[in-house]
Amino acid sequence: LPIVGSPLPLEWSSEDDTLAFAQALAGRPALRDAFIELRGDLGAGKTTFVRHLLRALGVQGRIKSPTYAVVEPHEAQGLPIWHFDFYRFSDPREWEDAGFREVFAGPGLKLAEWPDKAAGLLPRADLVLRIEVRTDGSREVTATPQSGIGRELLT
Ligand code: ADP
Ligand code: MG
Repeated sequence: LPIVGSPLPLEWSSEDDTLAFAQALAGRPALRDAFIELRGDLGAGKTTFVRHLLRALGVQGRIKSPTYAVVEPHEAQGLPIWHFDFYRFSDPREWEDAGFREVFAGPGLKLAEWPDKAAGLLPRADLVLRIEVRTDGSREVTATPQSGIGRELLT
């Protein structure tokens, strides 16, 4: 995939850093129609990041993990937000049946954990966040913009 901007290396020493990055991102107007992929092993901190981002955007109440439902829809300040987790996604027919094509063609913020499980169906992400756990428990994160929107998110 073409890289539209330089990959940005980040370090999240603790969840406070995850929170700070989520809060910075929440202030970006380009987020309104962005598609962000979250990559990394189980336990890397993908859902944690999404939770902090949703809170920073003003989502109230319990934020469920979409692992069993594939997607949890949210809304904040009139902004539709779709939190996908494709970990258990295996039937491409579900892509059409559940209306995911329409979701990705429509407005709103889309966040996707385990995008590889829906490879070939998902459009190109605006921003890819790859999270790796270091032996000391800190997170090594690479933020790669893949569109103008992605670039705006990182400036
Ligand atoms: P994933 O969705 O990638 O499987 P989770 O978001 O569920 O992972 O996080 C797994 C665990 O990692 C949680 O207990 C969370 O508190 C912890 N964690 C997340 N981000 C960080 C961080 N930046 N530093 C330390 N621990 C973190
Ligand atoms: Mg998760």
